[in-house]
Amino acid sequence: MRFSRLRLNGFKSFVDPTDMVIHEGLTGVVGPNGCGKSNLLEALRWVMGENRPSAMRGGGMEDVIFNGAATRGARHFAEVALHLDNADRLAPSGFNDADTIEIIRRITRDAGSAYKLNGKELRARDVQMLFADASTGAHSPALVRQGQISELINAKPKARRKVLEDAAGIGGLYQRRHEAELK
Ligand code: ATP
Ligand code: MG
Repeated sequence: MRFSRLRLNGFKSFVDPTDMVIHEGLTGVVGPNGCGKSNLLEALRWVMGENRPSAMRGGGMEDVIFNGAATRGARHFAEVALHLDNADRLAPSGFNDADTIEIIRRITRDAGSAYKLNGKELRARDVQMLFADASTGAHSPALVRQGQISELINAKPKARRKVLEDAAGIGGLYQRRHEAELK
């Protein structure tokens, strides 16, 4: 399973629809300060179910919606679509019957977020579960935020242990146990 395409519409500085094909191998994003490199990574984390506004450098989740510029008005919604190439059929069971998995997250002002997987509505929890075992999810150590390395160095042992557990791929187990206890 790998990321194969990312589309943004109204997300942060990406006010116009933007469509990026992600090829196999290493992808580099380069550009001057403030051009939107970190926003791009945040879009990736957001579509995978990130729910902490602080991880999006915002005060509230609606801060991800384009909030206007000198020459353009604010937008009413933001949408990010992520394609996963699942030709290797390595997606977890329940998600594993298609060559391409398309996840769309859309947030509308005053109406919150909605998710779709291959056209079907689903819950944030289901999207988070899809990524929980793949070590790529919104909270996974595979995504390293700007400034996160120095935070890690200064972290308390318990916070560091969480990072190691996630890196070892057992974060999904904890999540499933929690779900089972709720049922
Ligand atoms: P650096 O090289 O300094 O790390 P960067 O390429 O990572 O820069 P970002 O931090 O991704 O840049 O982009 C910052 C820009 O995004 C700022 O110009 C900011 O105004 C803009 N931005 C953030 N949120 C929104 C929003 N909701 N609406 C419009 N623009 C936004
Ligand atoms: Mg940046």
